[in-house]
Amino acid sequence: MRRAIAIIILLFSLNFSLIAENFADYVNPLMGTQSTYEFSHGNTYPAVAVPWGLNFWSPQTGENRNGWMYAYTDTVIRGFKQTHQPSPWINDYAVFSVMPLSGELKLSHKERGVSFTHQNEEARPYCYSVKMDNGVEVSLAPTRTSSVMEVSYPSLQGQYFIIDAQHGGCKVDIDQMGRKVTGYVKNHNGGVPANFTNYYVMEFSHPIAEKGVMINDSLFAGRSVGEHDRVCGYLRFIVPEGEKLTVRMSSSFISLEQAKLNFRREVTGKSFNEVKELAKSQWNNMLGRVVVDDDNEEALKTFYSCLYRVLLFPREFYEYDEEEQPYYYSPYDGKIHEGYMYTDNGFWDTFRAVHPLFTLLYPEVSERVMQSLVNVYNESGFLPEWASPGHRGCMIGNNSLSLIADAYIKGIRGFDTQKALEAMVHQTEAQGDPLSVGRNGYEEYFTLGYVPYPDYYEATAKTLEYAYADWCLSVYARALGEVDIASDYESTSYNYENLFDKSLGFMRGKNRSGEWLFPFKPEEWGGPFTEGSSWHYTWSVMHDIEGLSRLMGGYNNMTFMLDSMFTAPPVYDYGTYGFVIHEIAEMVALDMGQYAHGNQPVQHAAYLYNYSRAPWKAQYHIRQILDKLYKPTPDGYCGDEDNGQTSAWYVFSAMGFYPVCPGRAEYVIGTPLFDKVTLNLPANKTFIIESTNNGSVSPYIKSAELNGKRYTKNYISHFDIINGGTLRFNMSDKPNIKRGINAEDAPASLTKVEN
Ligand code: CA
Repeated sequence: MRRAIAIIILLFSLNFSLIAENFADYVNPLMGTQSTYEFSHGNTYPAVAVPWGLNFWSPQTGENRNGWMYAYTDTVIRGFKQTHQPSPWINDYAVFSVMPLSGELKLSHKERGVSFTHQNEEARPYCYSVKMDNGVEVSLAPTRTSSVMEVSYPSLQGQYFIIDAQHGGCKVDIDQMGRKVTGYVKNHNGGVPANFTNYYVMEFSHPIAEKGVMINDSLFAGRSVGEHDRVCGYLRFIVPEGEKLTVRMSSSFISLEQAKLNFRREVTGKSFNEVKELAKSQWNNMLGRVVVDDDNEEALKTFYSCLYRVLLFPREFYEYDEEEQPYYYSPYDGKIHEGYMYTDNGFWDTFRAVHPLFTLLYPEVSERVMQSLVNVYNESGFLPEWASPGHRGCMIGNNSLSLIADAYIKGIRGFDTQKALEAMVHQTEAQGDPLSVGRNGYEEYFTLGYVPYPDYYEATAKTLEYAYADWCLSVYARALGEVDIASDYESTSYNYENLFDKSLGFMRGKNRSGEWLFPFKPEEWGGPFTEGSSWHYTWSVMHDIEGLSRLMGGYNNMTFMLDSMFTAPPVYDYGTYGFVIHEIAEMVALDMGQYAHGNQPVQHAAYLYNYSRAPWKAQYHIRQILDKLYKPTPDGYCGDEDNGQTSAWYVFSAMGFYPVCPGRAEYVIGTPLFDKVTLNLPANKTFIIESTNNGSVSPYIKSAELNGKRYTKNYISHFDIINGGTLRFNMSDKPNIKRGINAEDAPASLTKVEN
């Protein structure tokens, strides 16, 4: 890439606005798609979209309603789907799909699948193309709310085009003279008000020669309108040989009029190639905020494939009115509001590294997300924790507090900060519906100092996450000058101490009378923990690793515990789950002891050696994870990707640092993967991370320099990065056990670090 970088510099110096390098073509959207219910290699689908797009598109190989909409091992395509799915476990909403067919008319998704092979498909973030085995070729390119599709039919016979409005209430309305189809879909899996609707509009380049609708299972040839629980429309065309059918599609959550406005604005008069090139340049502009210079092509592909995943969610749920002002249909109160709304995000996953990456590299997105959080509070009475599109009952914690504190501490100001404070306090002392909103067990948390088990499911994990959230709230309140709130929540942020069993060295469940849960096995999953065991949750004290190390009996003991996690046999007890959940199977497959990188709670743990004065051990394990657990292939992740989080781990870690404790304006240093990484930051600042003598056998930092001065710290300040500069590492195949071992080198903790 070195030559390309020179071209970029040349273009910048000539005042070109577009980045010339094709970062987007390093992305493999199929990374992670070789997944099943039983075992996840990512549980992703090839999202064809612009960054954070309102609508995504994906080929559909699974049947309707199957969360595994595209599985790499499937052999047929059943449609091309407008999707909003953040995870197969949450499933989709507001879906419709289209499918061109040749020959016989088959409407049902169970029957219309056409076989294909991966040799005949090309997946890019900005375009998906496939030639199916029946000779029909489809290419699709996205805009923010719309898409343009080109179809080639192999013969004049039976050139059909199916519009599957799916189930749950929908309409297909064919305007044969206008070459248009309009309609709506209402399907969802929860988290929507009663009036929830996705209005769509399609326009075709060629005259509609024949039409009909299938209502539930009854076919009505010649009919123009179908409105019922399940509706499929069909059109037939006569596209002359050598021509392509062009289909332009758009939609809106606000109204049919808005769908038409989105259509006029984004796809009217635009060719497929124009839309494709525009989407590609949008990806290149966003991906190009990190320029990697290295000759390891596989790692470059992995890096940009991961960065693409980070830039998909949360989804921009807002649209633009006639005056180009943002407004949205609220999935909370069902009304129309001005401003920004984001959705399709589980903060339990994404607070860790996705949102911190936005705060660092995409602060304009972070600012809008903050406004959206306040809007959700105004419209529903709670901050979101798992939204798709409204509140969903999934996972635990008050991690919305982490997002707000992290953004504010790192300089994001463009939101109602007082309202946010009110919302944060409220989130800690009220229970919402579903239970994952607000604080489940808040009374006991504040009176007993922990959430008791079994009174509350996953109670120990909840306590640990609430304690971290309280610390986030205390930091935020202090920054706003609210010292009383700050001091109250700082004191409860020590509540993690109440569930650490010093006699065993592990976090452990405790009942209402204060007795430890018995029997105890650190390898037992579930029960008081969430999708993990005590091996994983014992480290969930992001804000006070120093305090945790003291509970463990000091740095050497903590290092020993970390070593043990990586070397203990990957035995397990599936506990209250009653069967081997996929996260357990993935941990066993990793062969990294009890370390379970395939799930989120433990993903910061390798960095903790930096607190226990053994940073070279962090460097060793992080490089192992970077090298062994990520590949730019369909089986390229070691567990659920989860809304960009497992990808964001790679993006940060490959750059050489990671936000172990969001809410604190510093990053903990790991081991840089590449020769050179340039961060293109706001205010035309750049921050460069360089490494020399690097390579797969040289994960260790021998020495480092920040802006030309010797640098021994195991962390770097957020502001040192965004003010611009150069961090240079000299790498080695041997650990430097004298570097980064003094008190001043350790990352900060709530408990003050002393010599
Ligand atoms: Ca997960």
